Amino acid sequence: MENEPRDVVIIGTGPAGLTAAIYASRANLKPLVIDGGQPGGQLMITTDIENYPGFPEGISGPEMMGRFRDQAARFGAEFVHGSVNEVDLSRSPFCISLEDGQDILTKTLIVATGANAKWLGLPSEQKYRGRGVSACATCDGFFFRDSHVFVIGGGDTAMEEAFFLTRFASKVTVVHRRDEFRASRIMSLRVEKNPKITLELNQMVDEILGDGQKVTGIRLKNVKTGKLTEHGCDGVFVAIGHAPNSKIFERQLNIDEYGYIETAKTSTETNVQGVFACGDVQDYTYRQAITAAGSGCMAALDAERYLESIR
Ligand code: NDP
Repeated sequence: MENEPRDVVIIGTGPAGLTAAIYASRANLKPLVIDGGQPGGQLMITTDIENYPGFPEGISGPEMMGRFRDQAARFGAEFVHGSVNEVDLSRSPFCISLEDGQDILTKTLIVATGANAKWLGLPSEQKYRGRGVSACATCDGFFFRDSHVFVIGGGDTAMEEAFFLTRFASKVTVVHRRDEFRASRIMSLRVEKNPKITLELNQMVDEILGDGQKVTGIRLKNVKTGKLTEHGCDGVFVAIGHAPNSKIFERQLNIDEYGYIETAKTSTETNVQGVFACGDVQDYTYRQAITAAGSGCMAALDAERYLESIR
């Protein structure tokens, strides 16, 4: 059933979506925030956040997202639980269809659907997530001082993670399934030249090993010979790419070859007037809670200005 169009609908409740909600509600735009498939976003599976300014003692991901949400609600943001099935951005106002059959009309839309790290798909990887297995060196590298960690992947993310981890770990081993990196030459050279980094090429992860509580090692399988080798280690960083949650916008918004929504250089505008994108669904470079929150703020300000321009 269709209803009166809202001024602002926000899809996603990670740092980007909730910051957009705080700014839009303080601008008296009474935003409607749609939770999405993973309320709170990727931070809900992060234990300690130590790099978000203002929290010198650190804060857990769920607690931080709870606080963001309370702040948005305090200024009048409304929340609706559920996932979006499809969007129609070809009409004005836009139409957002929820999985429960509800249609929501809106003059502006802020897309903050985030991205998810890709995982190898091993049960042992799931078992030890947060207990030695991570997909974010910036978030968790600090916990691996003077230890031996493995980084899986051969793209720029893997190179960047490996390089970053040498600040903490005494030894970093990069595992790649081919003998040639996908990463840019400059990034792979930097890794190859670093004395703390060793390479295991033509290798796949066969199993992540642990003692039931934490990671203790890794078993690799040579893709050419099938030979299995076991190595002791303290951590495994999976860096095989991210999948932005942009599928429902395909063919309506401009999306790059990796699935990220394209935005204007100095704003959060997409190719559809009145639709703004922020956070990890449009940012593959920084991917931090603080940068996502910053771009959420930008999206709310952009939406507010757009609404003024059409009044
Ligand atoms: P990419 O898709 O570029 O690389 C993913 C890597 O993971 C590939 O080497 C791939 O192997 C490997 N891989 C994928 N799936 C598996 C699997 N199941 N098992 C084992 N290995 C697997 O993703 P990135 O996140 O690295 O980069 C995405 C984009 O972001 C790129 O455009 C990159 O340039 C950019 N980026 C730029 C940075 C910078 O400039 N500072 C930093 C980080 C990212 P294979 O090569 O065999 O396919």
